Amino acid sequence: MEILKKCTCCGNDKPLSLFANKKAAKDGKSCYCKDCMVMKATEYKNTHKKKCSDYSSKYYLENKEKVTKRYKEYYQVNKEKISEHAKDYYQKNKEEIIEKCKKYYNDNKEELNERSKNYYKRNKEEITEYQKEYRQKNKKKMTEYQRNYYQRKKERLKNNLREL
Ligand SMILES: [Zn+2]
Repeated sequence: MEILKKCTCCGNDKPLSLFANKKAAKDGKSCYCKDCMVMKATEYKNTHKKKCSDYSSKYYLENKEKVTKRYKEYYQVNKEKISEHAKDYYQKNKEEIIEKCKKYYNDNKEELNERSKNYYKRNKEEITEYQKEYRQKNKKKMTEYQRNYYQRKKERLKNNLREL
């Protein structure tokens, strides 16, 4: 005859085989029958799910800096993996992505223009500052580029004149 065990949840006497194993328990079986375990797990998940998302958004608001910092750290450490993955994803879905971008741009053209105009207005000084800095840093490169550009233009002009 099979040994029965009383489930402390539903109070039914059930055969031991209907109880989940639990090493920590005296008889090696959980004090809840399997049915009750399943029920409890679903219940727990359901009540916990909401609490969990509530908790995480609250947590995020309270720890915004910590979270962003951790994310940044994660990004730093996994930079190559992430960019590799993004590159891979882009390669595989290139056409779709371009198409989507185009569509998004067309659908939101005015709003986007407005937004970038506003962005410029709001960050004018910062942007000018950045451009100035960029020019400072890349002065040599830019003058070189300009010199080359004029050089080529001059030659093209000369060639045109010769042809005339
Ligand atoms: Zn039970």
